[in-house]
This record gives sequence, structure tokens and C-alpha cells, in this order.
Amino acid sequence: MTGKGKRPASGEIRQSQILSTFGPGAMMDLPNHSVLIGGLNHWKGDRRRIYEDRLAGRVCELLDVNSIALYAPPVDEQDPKASRSGITSFVFPTWFVAQIEEFWQAPNKRQYRTRPLLPWGSLVKGRYLSLEKKKVPVVPVRFVQACVNGHISDINWYRFVHSESANSDCRGQLWLDEGGSGNDFVDIFVRCESCQARRPLSDATVPNGKVLGSCEGHRPWLGPAAKELCVSPLTGKPELNRLLVRSASNAYFAQVLSVISLPDADEVLRKAVDLVYEDFLQFAEDVSDVKRDRKKQKVGAAIEGFSNESIWAEIKRRQNGTSDKPKSIKQVEIETLLSQPIEVGEDAPEGDFYARTRQIDGLKPLLASRIDRIVLVHRLREVTAQIGFTRFEAAMPDIDGELSLNVRRAAIDLEPTWVPAIENKGEGIFISFRQAAIEQWRNRDAVQKRGLDLYKGFEEWRSQRGIDPDKAKFLGLPYIMLHSLSHLLITAVSLECGYAASSVRERIYAGESGYGILLYTGTSGSEGTLGGLVQVGKRIEYHLTTALEMGKLCSNDPVCAQHQPSNRQEDRLLHGTACHGCLLIAEPSCERRNEFLDRALVVDTVEGLGAEFFQTGRL
Ligand SMILES: [Zn+2]
Ligand SMILES: [Zn+2]
Ligand SMILES: [Zn+2]
Ligand SMILES: [Zn+2]
Repeated sequence: MTGKGKRPASGEIRQSQILSTFGPGAMMDLPNHSVLIGGLNHWKGDRRRIYEDRLAGRVCELLDVNSIALYAPPVDEQDPKASRSGITSFVFPTWFVAQIEEFWQAPNKRQYRTRPLLPWGSLVKGRYLSLEKKKVPVVPVRFVQACVNGHISDINWYRFVHSESANSDCRGQLWLDEGGSGNDFVDIFVRCESCQARRPLSDATVPNGKVLGSCEGHRPWLGPAAKELCVSPLTGKPELNRLLVRSASNAYFAQVLSVISLPDADEVLRKAVDLVYEDFLQFAEDVSDVKRDRKKQKVGAAIEGFSNESIWAEIKRRQNGTSDKPKSIKQVEIETLLSQPIEVGEDAPEGDFYARTRQIDGLKPLLASRIDRIVLVHRLREVTAQIGFTRFEAAMPDIDGELSLNVRRAAIDLEPTWVPAIENKGEGIFISFRQAAIEQWRNRDAVQKRGLDLYKGFEEWRSQRGIDPDKAKFLGLPYIMLHSLSHLLITAVSLECGYAASSVRERIYAGESGYGILLYTGTSGSEGTLGGLVQVGKRIEYHLTTALEMGKLCSNDPVCAQHQPSNRQEDRLLHGTACHGCLLIAEPSCERRNEFLDRALVVDTVEGLGAEFFQTGRL
């Protein structure tokens, strides 16, 4: 803990961590033991309500409830040091290892560091009473068991060590023997002192192995009695328990959903069309019919102020029977960004969102042929909510920023009435890319060939993890290209403007409504208010040129450029030409955990694949 006054005054950093890392069901190490963060039914204290209807609507749909409120996680304003006030946690795991230094020699003469493995109930005032009656401190055992539904429990260590011996009822003193560095499961054993049974931990790591038994559906974060039935959607039976290292990165993945707050222009449009749809507009067959209908007084009055194109788009949606299907999160956002008027003067009305399109007459041909709009977002607000979590694998939002309904999700509350959310206010810069240029690029042979390589890597990744094809879809080349360019641009902008690497964030748009990159400041701390990104946006062509230049060469080239996505040995199946030397950025900046990246799609690399969108050397 830092001294007085050194701690950042704002609760935002801690709040965002609660959402991403320390949400309900996550494990956290305290000085003397480890805990599971309690579910929302165990959160108390002052919370601030956050209003964001579009996000709340989506959360309702995913959680299958009628209404939901968004609240910022509780913060104790009186005592900034009590960072976790209001959130109850539960001791977990309840098995410990005593901190003594002893050695045990295996029959093959190999030496092991060995320590007593103890259940909570055998401790005396939280310590191990040694044979010499000394009170020895203990640490929580590093290993627990969990299933892919998120259930978690202590490993039944007695059963683990005895299941293959005749003494299955033996309750002798257990020891944890660790050889080598203690990081190799083959070299970690559990041993029973009384019957000499001994078993390597690696037995519990065999894929689809039954060593740890079937999951019993424990959800200790929701309370001691919050057990549920564990069901595998594939077999209808409980999932198998898997070994989980508490500190491993796959122990907890928050499932979050985020939106940019927008004025609901669509709603006004829909209401206008409602007035004259039945009698007139439903018969329109193309945009010229709208133009004609508009001349009728009743229609003209109803849809005044809307363009023929936007009215026709709404009619089409209804005629296709999709009027009830709300637009995806990102579709609404890009449509709003693309419809901002040209900036004149420096007016800045109230509201969460204010953006203006910039003049781009002076762009160089390389950029002008590919970029059709640059929007300066003077003010924006992003709201992120946590709706659940997974273990072992992160749930992947689709290309429109949506989580699918059938993705697995461990509950963060018994009866959800609210979810934790945070809001970030800042500013941003949006770059829209010409659809025709992207289509043309995508159809080039070299691009298709590269796409096949990337797709092979993705398929390998999916099948290795046993993920259903309908739960994880390949994001497509335009997404990967724009995503990689976004990383280069974030790096270029941060270097040039002195932003902390994690303070600029991205949203990539590559759905049917258009292609674009939105960079925005991601915290409500001081960096969000420097007024920097709009200034950056006024000369973004300069930063883009730097970004493209940077993308050509990596300090790890030629190795970086030669990487094959589908190479199993390297296990970087979602990377094309991408590594820490070039494309990977700080995790909070990236919307996709630094996956789906390939700078060979953006610029020419030393490999000369010819798959780049920004072709400079040729033509
Ligand atoms: Zn035994
Ligand atoms: Zn389970
Ligand atoms: Zn690299
Ligand atoms: Zn990213």
C-alpha cells in the first residue's frame, strides 16, 4: 500500500478493474489467504446508477430478464484506501500448504521439496501445528478444479491420491512434493504419509480426463448453498472437472458488453415512418417512390427533415421483416458516426455525444483513394457492463460487438436485477474506409491466399479448444486489416503525443454498414481531458503515414514476418505477422485481447506477400 496522498484520487481505475479482473467469481490473493469475489447478491454500499438504455436493453436480452439496472461498483468515498468496501468475498480455496522446508527422497533417489497439504479444518488459528508443536504459517494451495460452465471447488485431494489404491478411505496426512522448479505438473506429486500412495498432478491434466470427476455445480461466489446442476450442452450430463491454476490467466474472463452512448436518431425516424407507413410507404418499391410519396401532403409533413435514402432504408428494413430485429451495437454506432455533418465553427452543444465530419480535400492519393470520411468526436461516453464470466476460454464477441445468446456464461447474481457498469467520458477520432477499395483489395489473389492462411490458423485454434463452429466465427479479412492498422495507429499516436500506451482505445467496425476505426480516450482521468484526440484527428494523415511506415518492419523480422498462423508449435494461431515487437499493445487498449492481427494485410513486409491494403511499391 502506498503512503498517504500517493494513491490516485479517482475510483475509476479500481472500478474498471472490478469489471475486467476482479468481478464476481474471480479469485484474488490477500496477504494470508485467497478469496473468491462474492456475487452481486453480496455487494453492498453506495452505488451510483448509470443510465444507458441501449446497453441495458442488450443486457436484458442476454440475461433473459425484463428489466435491468446498471450501477457503478460500490466505492467507499470516505475511505479511499478501503478499495474493496461493499464487496463481500469468501475464503477459497480451503486447502493450504504449510510453509516448511523439508525434503523427501523418492525410491529413484530424486529429491523433492515437500510440504504438508492441509484442509482448513485441520489448521489451528489459521496455522499448521507441526510435530514439534510449532505454529507454521500456511499459504493457499495453487490448484483448484473448475468446469467450463464456471463452477469451481476444491480438489478432493484424498480421493485424488487414493483413487487408484486399495485404501480409498484413507485420510492420512497428505504432502505436496515438488521437484525441479515446481512448475512442471509431471514433477509435482501428492503423497499420503500413512499408506504411501503417491500420484503426479499431471494425471489431472490429461485432456478430457476423468481423474477429477464430474462437476457438482458449485458456485461458492454466490454463497455456500448456491449449487446448481451442471449440464454440458453436448452430452446433457455434468461437465468434467478440470485442473485450474489459481493465478493462471485462464482462471477468469469477465464477459462484458460496451456501447458508445448515442442520441437516438433512429427512434425519431421510426416514429415518423410509423405515421404514414400503413397508408402510403409500405407500397414503395425503391427510393424514387419515396420521392414521389413525399409530394403528398400527409407524407411530406410526417417525414419532413429526413432524407429519401434514410426513409427508404427504414422501409426496406420493415419489408424484409427485420423491423423488429434491433440493429447491432456497432451498426448503430457506425451509422451515427457516418451521418455527422461537416464541422463549421466550434460550437459544442450539451450531451454525451458530439461529433463533426472533417474536411479531407488535402489527403494524399494513397489515403484519399481509401479513406472517405474522418470524423472528429469532440465528446463521447462509453458504458461497459459485466454480464457474466467464463473460465478456461474467453467468450468472443462477434464482429458487430454482440455476444451470442448461446455462449456459456457463469452467473454473477442469483436473481439478476442489476449489473455492474462503468462509464468513460472522453473524445475520439473516427476514420471511415471506402467500401469499394476494401472490396477490391479483398478480391486480390494474394489477399485471398493470405486469408486462407489466417483462416487455417483460426480453425486450428477453434478445434484445439473444442469450440463449436457457431460459437466462434472467423472475423474476416477487413476486420483483421483494420484491427492491425488500428494498433499501428494507436502506437504512432501514443508515441507522438505522449499518451500512456493504455489510454487510447479502439473500436473496429467491419460489418455491413461500413468499415471504420474509432480511437478514443478510455478513462475519465486526466488524459481523457487533454483535448488531444480531436487535435490528433485534425492531422491524422500525418499519424497514418507514420503508422504505415512503422508497420513495414518489426525488430523481430524476418522471424516475425515469416510466422505461419497455423503452426502448432508456435501456438500463435490467431496471429499473422504480429508480435510484441510490432502490433501487440497494452491489453486495455485492445477490443480483442490482442488477437486477430496481421500487419501483412496493411503494408508490405519483408516477406513481400503482396496482400497489403496500402500498396505503395506497386502500381
Ligand atoms: Zn493414504
Ligand atoms: Zn460445472
Ligand atoms: Zn513483429
Ligand atoms: Zn486490438
